[in-house]
Amino acid sequence: MKAMLLEKTGPVSVSSLAGKDRPAPAPGQGEISVKINACAICRTDLHIVEGDLDLPGLPVIPGHQIIGRVLAAGSGVTRFSEGARVGIAWLNSTCGHCKFCRSDRENLCYDARFTGFHTDGGYAEEVIVPADFAYPVPDDLPDIQAAPLLCAGIIGYRALKVSGIESGGRLGLYGFGASAHITIQVARHTGCEVYVFTRGPAHRELAEDLGAVWAGEPGDRPNTKLDASIIFAPAGELVPPALEALDRSGALVLAGIHMSPVPELEYEKHLYYERSIKSVTASTRQDGEELLKMAPEIPIRTQTRAFSLDDANLALTLLAEGRINGAAVLVP
Ligand SMILES: [Zn+2]
Ligand SMILES: [Zn+2]
Repeated sequence: MKAMLLEKTGPVSVSSLAGKDRPAPAPGQGEISVKINACAICRTDLHIVEGDLDLPGLPVIPGHQIIGRVLAAGSGVTRFSEGARVGIAWLNSTCGHCKFCRSDRENLCYDARFTGFHTDGGYAEEVIVPADFAYPVPDDLPDIQAAPLLCAGIIGYRALKVSGIESGGRLGLYGFGASAHITIQVARHTGCEVYVFTRGPAHRELAEDLGAVWAGEPGDRPNTKLDASIIFAPAGELVPPALEALDRSGALVLAGIHMSPVPELEYEKHLYYERSIKSVTASTRQDGEELLKMAPEIPIRTQTRAFSLDDANLALTLLAEGRINGAAVLVP
């Protein structure tokens, strides 16, 4: 099968993924093999390719927002049969018995393994995944539309839950890429007013199209205090102004897997009045199931730009330059 392989990390403009022929993987016990129809690109892929994260090993095939159909099931698999449409996300397996796995917090499992990081992912024609960690995908979502839900969507959804925002609340979103453009739709569906802070004029326009009541530059300030905010951009310098823009008891959620250093905070200016900061780390299977169930009800419409597998480097470069509006999706 054709695959885009990461052999050496570095700036995406220099050190790129290499198109290779790889043996098609066969499913072992409890696993399924999946023919990939679409794999959306996540900012985490960019961090992996550029070496911002400690990688468990190379080479690896990135990609963890996969939609496809089951080709074959290994022994012991009853959850899916051949031809079933499935989604594959970042969480690839967990230990199943640690204190986090036993308390509905499997996203924090010490032995969690991730798709396109510990295991080969979706920048390819086929992939293997433990059947218990694949998701049934509702029929009414086309492949390319559905793919960005698998991480961009799920992480934004988890960030919303972690923020504790309620119907009628004022929510700030910092950065308006793939994740935020889905999160705004879920937030509006639950009755929130959404304020968007982003540098790109095209991103502000998309935010307004999707119902933001206010869209400005990261340094701008709406004339009201926010009940909660989510920072999607990997920029630590956004943390102090985002805290300042919060109302009393407001929550700031950091949704990225990587962030540049956070500047020094002043207690009275940034934290007093019971403001809080919390990060989001991966997601549970329950988060994914809840979002995929909700997606056709809302209905979530993802804005996507399709690329061939060969153009994965181009798509990552455009993402790095902030030139993707919505989500980039690889179509093998
Ligand atoms: Zn565990
Ligand atoms: Zn991701």
